[in-house]
Amino acid sequence: MEIKTVGVIGAGQMGNGIAHVMALAEYDVLLTDVSQEALDNAMETIRANMARQASRGKITEEEMEAALGRIKTTLNLPDLGQTDLVIEAATERETIKQAIFEDLQPHLQPHTILTSNTSSISITRLASRTDRPERFMGFHFMNPVPVMQLVELIRGIATDEETYNACKAVVDRLGKTAASAEDFPAFIVNRILMPMINEAVYTLYEGVGNVQSIDQSMKLGANHPMGPLELADFIGLDTCLAIMNVLHDGLADTKYRPCPLLTKYVEAGWLGRKTQRGFYDYRGEVPVPTR
Ligand code: NAD
Repeated sequence: MEIKTVGVIGAGQMGNGIAHVMALAEYDVLLTDVSQEALDNAMETIRANMARQASRGKITEEEMEAALGRIKTTLNLPDLGQTDLVIEAATERETIKQAIFEDLQPHLQPHTILTSNTSSISITRLASRTDRPERFMGFHFMNPVPVMQLVELIRGIATDEETYNACKAVVDRLGKTAASAEDFPAFIVNRILMPMINEAVYTLYEGVGNVQSIDQSMKLGANHPMGPLELADFIGLDTCLAIMNVLHDGLADTKYRPCPLLTKYVEAGWLGRKTQRGFYDYRGEVPVPTR
């Protein structure tokens, strides 16, 4: 089946990026959120990010205006029932995602594919609560969406081949690369990345290094473009902690236990860049390590 229209649920940092790349790939996009402010901010962010791409010659002004014209917003979730593919990118909480799929279900066309951009929640479990587990899968973009090349496609236990192939065709049309992952906690990228970040926080907690020496070591010693603590601030420390908890609970192995220092930063509300403070303090001209 050919996908022409895409519904995106949640207009936060991931949702606006997904709407952005879909519109540039000439899909008609319907973006929804519970907050009008989030929708307005998302449209502003998309315009600014596309303008940056245009100023760098990556897209033309005409492509930018045409893409912006393809994105419509709505506060009314049932409107997305008319789309061919739904990508849910709302807050990472299972009860929220379940309620969204439950509310949307009565309004869906029979052929509509449902997907979730979740970083860690079981696709099989989300799918089992819908009327179409065979037409349900994980569509996991990386942050920032317009920049990152990879999309993880995650089959639930019931996902059928037609659904997988339709989603793979969308990834191809975006010019991105799909990695196929099985539905186990945190999939591939976060299964490997988050324990590394958590270990970097343990290294800090135990005093083996300070923020600067840990980040510098991994940049210069392992050729990582960003240090693990800098990266954690970029992702959001609450997100990192939530994913470690999913690994810990889902795989029942103590090697995934979240570092107490990571928990402490989250309890303090020091969540990284989005709150201006995390392993670095971003309130001044240059980021300053907080330990
Ligand atoms: P975010 O907090 O920036 O945005 C979430 C948005 O969802 C908010 O605008 C919120 O108003 C909206 N929302 C909440 N409840 C809703 C509802 N019932 N209906 C519609 N909208 C609702 O979060 P984010 O970082 O964009 O993450 C979104 C999803 O993407 C999560 O599942 C997350 O795990 C996943 N993800 C995040 C990253 C990342 O690096 N941030 C990477 C890959 C995947």
